[in-house]
Amino acid sequence: MRAAARFCICAAAVLRLAEVVSYTMGNTSDKKKILIVEDETQISRFLQLELEHENYECTACADGREALNTALAGDFDLIVLDVMLPSLNGIEVLRRLRQDKQTPVIILTARDQVVDKVTGLDIGADDYMTKPFAIEELLARIRLHIKRNSASGGGMLKCGKLTVNAEARVASYDGHAVDLTKKEFDLLEYLMQNRNVVVSREKLLDAVWGFDFYGSTNVVDVYVRYLRSKIDDVYGVTVIETVRGAGYVIR
Ligand code: CA
Repeated sequence: MRAAARFCICAAAVLRLAEVVSYTMGNTSDKKKILIVEDETQISRFLQLELEHENYECTACADGREALNTALAGDFDLIVLDVMLPSLNGIEVLRRLRQDKQTPVIILTARDQVVDKVTGLDIGADDYMTKPFAIEELLARIRLHIKRNSASGGGMLKCGKLTVNAEARVASYDGHAVDLTKKEFDLLEYLMQNRNVVVSREKLLDAVWGFDFYGSTNVVDVYVRYLRSKIDDVYGVTVIETVRGAGYVIR
C-alpha cells in the first residue's frame, strides 16, 4: 500500500517535471496566436474565453488604431476583426495591414452590412461572419484559415509522384508540371492537405469556393473531372478516389 502510494507520488512528480520541462522548452509558443479586435466588451470577452478554451493564445484590442499597431508589431496566426471600431474602422485597419502583412483575417459585420462584407473581401479579408454568429462556426473557420495558412507557408505536399508546392502554387506529377487553374489548384491542395481523409462535396465546396459561392455541389464533381483529365488520364493513374456517398480522397 505504502509502495503504491510512493509510486503515485513519484509518477505525479515525473509528470509535473515533464510539464515544467515542456513549458520551459517553449511549449506555450506552439499555441496559435489570435488577435481579437472588438470594441463591444461582452463580445470581446466571450471570444477570448472561447478561444482560450480552444487553446489559442489571445490578445484583445478595442480600438482600430491600436489594433493596427498591434497586428503590425505582433506575429499573429489570425485576426478576428470587427468593422465598427473607434478611431479607425475595421476596413481601414485591414487595408493598411494588407500593405505589409498577409495574416488571415476574419471580419465581423453587423447583419445587412453588405457593403462592408464586399469591401472587406475586396481588400483581402479571408472570410467574414455576420453578427450574431454561432461560436462553433467561427471556431471552425478559424481552424480552417490557420490550417490553410500554415499549410501554404509550409511548402511541399507530396503523395507518391504527385507534388504540390503550396507556396509557389505549382503542381507536378513525376517531375512534369501540371498546368492548373486557380480553383483546380485549390481543390487539389485541399485534398492533399487532408490526405487519407474522405472529404464530402459540401466540405470541399465550403473550403475551396467558400463564402462567395452559392451554386450546387456539382461544381466539385466538375472540377474533380478537370483534375482527373489533367493528371489521371495523362499518367494512367487514380490520384483522386471517389468514395460513393461520402466524397473524395487522396491516399
Ligand atoms: Ca463594434
